[in-house]
Amino acid sequence: MNPRNVSGIGMTSQRTRERLARRLGDAGIRDARVLNVIRHVPRHLFVDEALASRAYEDTALPIGHGQTISQPFVVARMTELLIEHRLPQKVLEVGTGSGYQAAVLAALVPQVFTIERMRALHERSRRLFRDLRLHNIRQRLGDGYAGWPAEAPFEGVVLTAAPETIPQTLFEQLAEGGRLVAPVGPPGVQELRVYVRTADGVEQRAVERVSFVPMREGLE
Ligand code: SAH
Repeated sequence: MNPRNVSGIGMTSQRTRERLARRLGDAGIRDARVLNVIRHVPRHLFVDEALASRAYEDTALPIGHGQTISQPFVVARMTELLIEHRLPQKVLEVGTGSGYQAAVLAALVPQVFTIERMRALHERSRRLFRDLRLHNIRQRLGDGYAGWPAEAPFEGVVLTAAPETIPQTLFEQLAEGGRLVAPVGPPGVQELRVYVRTADGVEQRAVERVSFVPMREGLE
């Protein structure tokens, strides 16, 4: 890792991260555990060097290949929804992208599994997880529509790309009492939903409007 990354100078400083955490608190993120993680995960390492100075603004940023690192508020909200009743032990993320959401989860839950369909992003995040010593993240190049059957069931599942409807396979890989948090719907009209698997089915509620890249089938 180059010295820029380690020293955290200027716009990537601890103070800048503090400010972001405060802003998210003001915007309605209540879970102190989540705000604390936002304070510590170096988001500037998950974006291109040219965008590092904007890493602690509350906006989505391009990560190449037509994809984006999610807005910090949305990462915080989805994380909060995933852990609000009980801390899951094992979580599956679909859409590794930059790896930022996985790194946030890895600071809170014991085991994180994450799937990405684009090789270039998969490989970049792998280097980053290694450099940051995030050894509780396991990742694979694959199509999230299939989930990760060998590791199921998961107590939490989070989708960071939006399907038009949730694939049945992912509900099947959810433990009873487990939660799935996902943006759902066509581009432009997605809503963030929370699904809870119960003994006799799946309950759902809508949280707020969001805008995510679409979930796509197959590898790239
Ligand atoms: N969690 C990421 C968000 C990245 S954007 C972050 O924190 O940066 C969403 C990602 O989902 C993209 O990288 C996209 O390639 C990936 N994606 C889309 N459809 C997918 C699928 N079917 N399986 C796995 N990943 C998928």
